[in-house]
Amino acid sequence: MKIAIYPGSFDPITYGHLDVLERGAEIFDKVIIAVSYNCNKKGFLEPDVRKELVKKSVGHIKNVEVDSFDGLTIEYARKQGACVLLRGLRAVSDFEYEMQLSQTNSALADDIKTVFLITKPEYTFISSSTVREILLNNGDISKFVPPPVEKFLTSMVCKI
Ligand code: ADP
Repeated sequence: MKIAIYPGSFDPITYGHLDVLERGAEIFDKVIIAVSYNCNKKGFLEPDVRKELVKKSVGHIKNVEVDSFDGLTIEYARKQGACVLLRGLRAVSDFEYEMQLSQTNSALADDIKTVFLITKPEYTFISSSTVREILLNNGDISKFVPPPVEKFLTSMVCKI
């Protein structure tokens, strides 16, 4: 059974993330989408909220599990019996960071491979940070995030 981990901040999950996940789920037997959190780095949303929003957005994909983790991705992958890390590439600007990350992970754990999927052109410009920016300026985020995420975020901003 080939298990892949799709790690990321998902702060929040976007249609771009979802596209990579859906296609990854066609390749691997199981994909665990795992919200990474770092106790020393505060995100926009709390890790539990990010995880909950991921859960609400991926129910249509059968072989996907949702989880969160702290610490090294490769240690987490080993614990889950995964042999692959799934990552998305939007543009050349992602490449340098992703290459460094992938090579570091290979140096730490050569048995775990990183597989990259290039995003569909219509999702290339979407990022969690852009979504946060639009949201905080009361813009429409419905083209960028799944409906449960839009609903939660817009109601959250109304309460601020
Ligand atoms: P991280 O903080 O680990 O980079 P992100 O949540 O920003 O976490 O991204 C997780 C993964 O999803 C990364 O591989 C990133 O390149 C990819 N990704 C982010 N946005 C998109 C998008 N619009 N299309 C495809 N992949 C994306």
